[in-house]
Amino acid sequence: MTTIIDGKEISKKLREDLNKEIKNLKNKYNAVPGLAVIQVGNVAASSVYVKAKTKSAQEVGIEVIDHHLEESVSQDELLNLIEKLNNQKNVNGILVQLPLPKHMNEQLILDSIHPDKDADGFHPLNVGKLSIASHNDENLLIPCTPYGCLLMLKGLNIELAGKNAVVVGRSNIVGKPMAQLLIKESCTVTVAHSKTNDLPNVCKNADIIVAAVGRPKMIKGEWIKKGAIVIDVGINRIEVEIDGERKNKLVGDVDYKEAEKSASAITPVPGGVGPMTIACLLRNTTIAFKNSR
Ligand code: NDP
Repeated sequence: MTTIIDGKEISKKLREDLNKEIKNLKNKYNAVPGLAVIQVGNVAASSVYVKAKTKSAQEVGIEVIDHHLEESVSQDELLNLIEKLNNQKNVNGILVQLPLPKHMNEQLILDSIHPDKDADGFHPLNVGKLSIASHNDENLLIPCTPYGCLLMLKGLNIELAGKNAVVVGRSNIVGKPMAQLLIKESCTVTVAHSKTNDLPNVCKNADIIVAAVGRPKMIKGEWIKKGAIVIDVGINRIEVEIDGERKNKLVGDVDYKEAEKSASAITPVPGGVGPMTIACLLRNTTIAFKNSR
């Protein structure tokens, strides 16, 4: 029997725990964590993400400080706003929704967020800490998507140490930090990318596959070893025909129907990694609040 890893359920539990913790923090400090959410422009997908993050944050008791800026805002104006938020006492986490407009240097903007308020865990200092910190460091601000994937793996209550893990994708926000987290769990990690030779065989060797590519259904069922665990980070919108009508559908980077036959556990898309990412953002904001006290 294949276990379907239910990201909605696991993230719900995480949010309930955070809600309790934030109530306790409020009693102790007479303050709650604050998250500044910055959106520049009106990219439709960004608006959806910002709305979902804001709603979830408010539900767990985080105060959201919303900054929706015009597409035409200058890079200096955005940097000034971040500087102000870096010094604002009721702001513990700062989130800049990506992508930013083309006239901005994304890395420069992310680097300008104070590392202690880096809700996404993308600041070079936090990235560095992730690669050197001790195994049990609970105060780290870790990129949300890979940390959510790790929580899902841990929830399976299996021994991770010694497992062959293949991470497909080497982006700064998913693939690389995922590899770091799995190394910390004593997995033997291979990071594959667009220049990897014979990807099917590399995957076939994996006890754990994390797919973060951005290509619909690229990882085929026959690439998956019997009993492997499959974490599908991909979110791809494709057009399908339903009852003679063309409709949009979300699919992952893994051919779910085929992979399910070999995998011992697998995440669905949607309802897998996505909800975990948001819950981990709220976790980071709460950690940043606690670190500031
Ligand atoms: P990027 O585009 O930044 O990185 C994609 C990676 O995949 C790159 O390292 C690239 O290799 C690699 N790649 C591309 N084509 C191939 C190929 N044919 N074979 C092997 N590797 C390949 O994407 P992200 O990491 O930002 O996102 C990946 C996916 O995860 C996307 O679908 C995105 O929407 C989704 N996502 C989901 C989140 C969630 O909350 N569920 C959060 C963040 C992302 P190379 O480096 O050589 O170019």
